[in-house]
Amino acid sequence: MAIKTYKKGVKTRLSENFESTEFDCHGHGCCSQTKIDEKLIDYLQQIADHFGKPVLVRKHSGYRCQKHNAAVGGKKYSKHMQGMAADFSIKGVSPAEIAKYAESIGVKGIGLYETAKDGFFVHIDTRAEKSFWYGKAQHHRDTFGGAPAKPKLVSYKVGPVSAGDAERVKALAAELQVPCVEV
Ligand SMILES: [Zn+2]
Ligand SMILES: [Zn+2]
Repeated sequence: MAIKTYKKGVKTRLSENFESTEFDCHGHGCCSQTKIDEKLIDYLQQIADHFGKPVLVRKHSGYRCQKHNAAVGGKKYSKHMQGMAADFSIKGVSPAEIAKYAESIGVKGIGLYETAKDGFFVHIDTRAEKSFWYGKAQHHRDTFGGAPAKPKLVSYKVGPVSAGDAERVKALAAELQVPCVEV
């Protein structure tokens, strides 16, 4: 996966539901290129497939050149300037539902903006280290409720394991709310 560069205003198909112009910088006369991370498209396509509805990036924000980013008050090192971020909404789906699903597919950078003041959209980006936040004030969030599924099964051997160890494994399984089987 890599960050690719496209010509602003010239449609290039990126995946089943996305074209490059969807991500063009909204500024006028500020830039002529559009940077887009392939990994971002991979995430957005999964989101489009999951909800079965158009993912609206153009309505909000995709790529932003340095000049336009400064003009709209974006962060100095905004991931939008590297083509690694998208702000979007899906008609009829709450931003909270989208954030939850994005978390479940392993997106590490997620911002949820679900009030009128904050704009009703979700920001996702392709950073490697987890960072979740809420609203323009960027309150930290641990989860949006979509943490990847817990292990389905815990097993233990009774033979060489002491009864105490087996009890500890059972207790751990109970705590994780997963079934525990003897093998
Ligand atoms: Zn621009
Ligand atoms: Zn954003």
